[in-house]
Amino acid sequence: MSEMNAPALGKKEETIWPEETGLIEAISRNPTNRKLIILFSLLLIPLILWQTAVVSNQTALDRLAEQGSQRLTIYRSSLQSEFEKYEFQPILLSRMEDMVRLLIDPDDTAITQWMNHRLSEINEIAKTSATYLMDKNGITLAASNWKSDRSFVGNNFAFRPYFKQAIAGKSGRYFALGTTSNKPGYYLSHPIQAAGQTLGVVVVKVSVERLEKDWAASNDKVMVSDKDGIVFISSKPNWKYKSLTPLSETVREELKNSRKYSHAKLQPLSITKRKPYDDKGEIITLAEKDAKSGKIKSGSHFLQDMKIPGAGWTLHLISPMKPVYQTITYTVLIVTSGLIITVLIALYLIQKRLAARDRQNLQRQAQLALQEANDSLEQRVQERTRDLQRAQDGLIQASKLAALGQMAAGITHELNNPLAAIRSYSDNARVLIERERFGDAAENLSQISNLTSRMAEITQQLKTFSRKTEGRQQAISVNDAIDHALSLLSKSGSLNGVSINYTPLETPLTVKGNLVRLEQVFINLFSNAIDAMADSKDRILDISIVVNSTKAKILVHDSGPGLDEEIIEQVFDPFFTTKEVGKGLGLGLSISSRIISDFGGMMSAENDPEGGALFRVELLRE
Ligand code: ADP
Repeated sequence: MSEMNAPALGKKEETIWPEETGLIEAISRNPTNRKLIILFSLLLIPLILWQTAVVSNQTALDRLAEQGSQRLTIYRSSLQSEFEKYEFQPILLSRMEDMVRLLIDPDDTAITQWMNHRLSEINEIAKTSATYLMDKNGITLAASNWKSDRSFVGNNFAFRPYFKQAIAGKSGRYFALGTTSNKPGYYLSHPIQAAGQTLGVVVVKVSVERLEKDWAASNDKVMVSDKDGIVFISSKPNWKYKSLTPLSETVREELKNSRKYSHAKLQPLSITKRKPYDDKGEIITLAEKDAKSGKIKSGSHFLQDMKIPGAGWTLHLISPMKPVYQTITYTVLIVTSGLIITVLIALYLIQKRLAARDRQNLQRQAQLALQEANDSLEQRVQERTRDLQRAQDGLIQASKLAALGQMAAGITHELNNPLAAIRSYSDNARVLIERERFGDAAENLSQISNLTSRMAEITQQLKTFSRKTEGRQQAISVNDAIDHALSLLSKSGSLNGVSINYTPLETPLTVKGNLVRLEQVFINLFSNAIDAMADSKDRILDISIVVNSTKAKILVHDSGPGLDEEIIEQVFDPFFTTKEVGKGLGLGLSISSRIISDFGGMMSAENDPEGGALFRVELLRE
């Protein structure tokens, strides 16, 4: 490929994809782009997955929190309704006349007995845990459980806050572990007053056992803690009487004094980690004893609180984080699959685009190669043509020079001979005049005159060649021209024993031309033929005439060796001759052909198939 073509090709390369601007095209076109995209994807994919995890975690936690708070509301109402059922029980009991009578006369066994029966009866109907009457010092005078081993009768519960509240004239509410029964319960107390004085306190203890059973059945981990954070109701029994946060010494002392939780150790729940989630709850790590294996297992949970108004209690719900983790896992899996599918589709599209581009590039390359081949072929042809032209020009130049040389040699020879003769004739003439042989001298002078006219003849020939047209054209007789030419040759003794085979046409034939010049043409043709037959055995000059309505054709045929095939094209060229120097100038045929074409006719040369050269002279009929 030449240097000139290179920039043009570069340009073509650049404009291969002018119409495409899409992302996939941009990626597939540029390898650097592709690398950047891959790098970007490698960074982007983990970022997307991480973001997906964050968002799905948040969504799942929000849902968990929402469900949790709905549950907590349900548990709170169940707890409240459980205790509210008994709200009026102590008030109604405090209105019993017999209670005042017993408080006034605590030693009356009949009333005590009667009261024990009544309380036991009421307790059974109300399905409460215990119902009892205390005097103003806190000593139990009568109780529903008077018959049992752990009867409250005679026991002093003055230390209990519910007693203190009631003796102060208010309704008391208190949750505690029974000191006698060791069973947890909700204590509702009310003062018994007469004549503006508080004589004693009536107490109803409500059990939480049934509530706990219901909660445990729901499978939820739900619990209630008091103002100090100690769990006292729980769906899981082993969480009971444990603190949610470590207790201070003062609180511990207070609890000991009130014997609120009897002898329970009040250990903290084993929450190892706490992480708040907005204001909705906390993510905690809880160590639990596995029910089956007995091993301690740690797990993440979501802890939610809800305050119970009035009592200073808090309801807690602990939900496992498993559903949250499942949601995250599923979402990340789905997004990952989505990303993989997207990447695969993108790769497929890029691959397809690249294959298409390769195909187009191949086609383009093939086209370019073809174009290049065409271009170089054309170039080679042009170069070869130029070479040929140069060679031909060179040949023409060489042949012109050769012709010029030949002509110079011919002219020199033709003129030198007569010049040399003139010199010797004139030298002789001078000697003869000196010797007074005037007759011989005159003879020499006439020879000189002859020689000069011969020289004039030669120069005349050259003149004829250079002249384009000469003489007037008129209707001339072909017969006359042939006859004159033959007689001239015969007179000069040039026929050289050649037999002439010529029969003139019966009807006179006239053509357009000039008689003298046509004679010149025939003399030339006949003398060439005679020259050619010099060495031939049979020497016959055959002259025939063929006519049609417009043209006359004169055929001159000899029995010589004919024309060499190589020179047949050149015989009409000026100065072309095969004759030795001095014998011919090579102008005869060239001048003849010029004369004939001046007459509007044409000349040609060929070899007769039966031997000898055949010259045709074609003339226009007049
Ligand atoms: P010249 O006779 O001075 O050579 P011409 O132009 O008449 O010049 O002829 C050119 C050449 O043509 C001759 O030298 C000869 O080789 C060839 N030629 C012409 N006529 C004949 C013929 N009848 N037979 C063979 N060769 C011929």
